[in-house]
Amino acid sequence: MKLCSKCGIRPAEIYQAHSNKMLCKECFLEDVRNRAIEEIKRWNMIKSDDIVMMALSGGKDGYVLLDVLGNYFSKSNKLIGLNIIEGIHGYNKEEDAKYLVKTAKEYGVDVIVTSIKDYIGYSMDEIYEKTRNSKNSFTPCTYCGASRRRIMNYYAREMGATKLATAHNLDDEAQTAVINLMKGDINSLLKQHPNINITEDDMLVKRIKPLRKIYEWENASFTFIKNFHIQQTECPYIELAPTLRAKVRRELYKYERENPGVLIRFMETLDILLEYIHQDKVATKLNRCIKCGEPTTKGRNICKLCELLSSIGISNPSYLIKVPKKVM
Ligand SMILES: [Zn+2]
Ligand SMILES: [Zn+2]
Repeated sequence: MKLCSKCGIRPAEIYQAHSNKMLCKECFLEDVRNRAIEEIKRWNMIKSDDIVMMALSGGKDGYVLLDVLGNYFSKSNKLIGLNIIEGIHGYNKEEDAKYLVKTAKEYGVDVIVTSIKDYIGYSMDEIYEKTRNSKNSFTPCTYCGASRRRIMNYYAREMGATKLATAHNLDDEAQTAVINLMKGDINSLLKQHPNINITEDDMLVKRIKPLRKIYEWENASFTFIKNFHIQQTECPYIELAPTLRAKVRRELYKYERENPGVLIRFMETLDILLEYIHQDKVATKLNRCIKCGEPTTKGRNICKLCELLSSIGISNPSYLIKVPKKVM
């Protein structure tokens, strides 16, 4: 029996290719937590008086984020969870949300459970039906993404959070970076850097990604070891999404298999390069949407979400009238 290369006492059970180490379960969990905390400290993502809202989907990445921040936070900080139910038949299950709320409680964290339907007046299934009957070419994922980003920022602001933590992992970030590079979208690339603000607006809560250097497989193993019951179903709309990301993912996995650690090095290089590119640039002030009053890109009068919704005939979303607030 092989022993853990870190503690040398417990049996080695997990091979971590990027470090070429065989770890026991305990040392593996500790390694993931430590690397996430190192990343938080390196970029000063969380300050002592911050109130942090975590976006928790019920998937594996969110549970790792909950564990990492739940263990890391001192009593002086406040942590809040947010779960957004998309309203997709067969995908969002009530018991998943209940289990998430219960698990978060064990970490001393309250979770707000809300939905796209609460905020917009339509569930994702209802929005999908409308996109099918319209001429625009946006996928359900575009609607879902724009809605979730808005709802996250809205609740973070309403709850007085000073940071909004999302559970994006290293694989997500590397894929997004490659896509941004291929599209020549330097602004989106800069936005991926933890310390660069290319826009500023006091209505936008600063986003942080503590798991940006943790591999997706590590989050999966972490969840498995901790025995978290994660949402297993795949979103049924995923097959309607553009395939560029799927292709990039496949290629990156291939490189990672052949050169373990390549994704970490790729993101580390970008972190350094982007700081050079951004030097001395000042953040641009955002406009406000004339319909809903939320921040929108400079040069726009109507925000992306209002525009997307009105293009499928939703000209009076609920958020223009009243927005519910719920704490569980
Ligand atoms: Zn060990
Ligand atoms: Zn708007």
